Amino acid sequence: MNTVHIKKGYQLRLIGAPAAEVEVLPRPARVAVVPERLRFVKPRLTVKVGDRVKVGSVLFEDKRHPGVFYRSPGAGTVSAVSLGPRRLVRHIVVDLDEQEAFEEFGPIDRGELERIDRLDLIDRLMAGGLWPLVRELPFRDAARREARPPALFVHLDNLDPFHPLPPVYLRGCEDLFEFGLRALERAADAPVNVSLAKENAAAINGLRSRITHLYTGNYPAHDPGVLLYRTKRSAAENHSWFISGQGVLLLGQFLQEGRLPTEQTLVIAGPGAQTPRHVRARIGAPIAALGAGEVPAAGIRCVAGGVFSGQPAPMDSFLNAGETSLVYLAEGAESPPAFRWMLPGREATSYSRTFLSSFTSPRDRSMSCNRHGGLRACIQCGFCARVCPVDILPQLTYKAALAEEVEESLSHGLLDCVECGLCAFVCPSKIDLLETLRRAREAYYDDIA
Ligand code: SF4
Ligand code: SF4
Repeated sequence: MNTVHIKKGYQLRLIGAPAAEVEVLPRPARVAVVPERLRFVKPRLTVKVGDRVKVGSVLFEDKRHPGVFYRSPGAGTVSAVSLGPRRLVRHIVVDLDEQEAFEEFGPIDRGELERIDRLDLIDRLMAGGLWPLVRELPFRDAARREARPPALFVHLDNLDPFHPLPPVYLRGCEDLFEFGLRALERAADAPVNVSLAKENAAAINGLRSRITHLYTGNYPAHDPGVLLYRTKRSAAENHSWFISGQGVLLLGQFLQEGRLPTEQTLVIAGPGAQTPRHVRARIGAPIAALGAGEVPAAGIRCVAGGVFSGQPAPMDSFLNAGETSLVYLAEGAESPPAFRWMLPGREATSYSRTFLSSFTSPRDRSMSCNRHGGLRACIQCGFCARVCPVDILPQLTYKAALAEEVEESLSHGLLDCVECGLCAFVCPSKIDLLETLRRAREAYYDDIA
């Protein structure tokens, strides 16, 4: 077992961490898939309003990857296909039947798993709609069926506040995890690296023998791209695959039961949450139902997927498979109080040492979505380079990307960027470096695809 020390990064200490007990939520009246939050996916719909579907019926196919299907997380009647700007598909909603029917894919046991052909196994996972849980570096798109990855990374935890804790979601699921991991070993046909924060190692004794990397450090030390950057020996490893710990459980369950899994463990947390907790809920559940009992007051924003790497999720939206974090944050006052610049900032959450809070002992604090200032020119403070976990000079990469100097931005390490968002968070000039870097990476990906 290797220990990797990640020196850069930043740990945002927020109030509202989830309690370790898991609350099982009641079955919602409807579930949905939300294509607008599925990165890279271009849906070709195969259902319309009024169609009857089972759990596991195809709702749409990714136009870019024929054969990659997205399946219904519930059985019932398609009640809405809502479209956003430029007719992008927002949600496909299914009103659930009292008794739900399942599409059957046929279970496989351990013996069959050892005998099945590698590509047949991948095809089975693709047909079941779970293959997109396996992603490929450096662009983080769904893994290519025909690729031979040099390695596969499984990250059990996620330091982006807040995500389910491994000792909580793995409790009682050790055998299922072993099965899912073996399936991935067969599908990738490559070494599998399982990583975990060192402080969590004692809490998951049952799987200790499967952990290959313990890491120490701040967000985003858990990220497979960061671990790869610190451990790789050759450029060929840049195309490694990765998956989350809960993704392994979902794949394992699908193969063992031959049916699409319908539940996942997630956290409802953050400074705006009334009762921060872990919950066991339906995949595709409505956000309003997940937050029942703490329906956010006006002025609270809901973020799906973590504070840094998540996306805003309106209350009429739903959570996709693999989205296991719902964080409530205050929007923040539109206009700051008069003479705010004169206030000492005893409670301010900030990376810079401008505020009094940086001289008090570290503790969890609240935070809002307000950026507290407008866009200004770069002042060359170097904060962004100081936090970047993969040693990029974000300000130079950003300038090259803005000028569409592709070669120069690549030479600065654009492809090593793990899209953690820390550079944008710490920038005192409020420059959205992440958005520009992400667009540049996607443009380059489109060019070479
Ligand atoms: S450039 Fe910014 S978003 Fe990319 S890894 Fe560095 S800090 Fe994170
Ligand atoms: S943190 Fe912002 S202002 Fe400071 S060097 Fe980076 S881009 Fe420039």
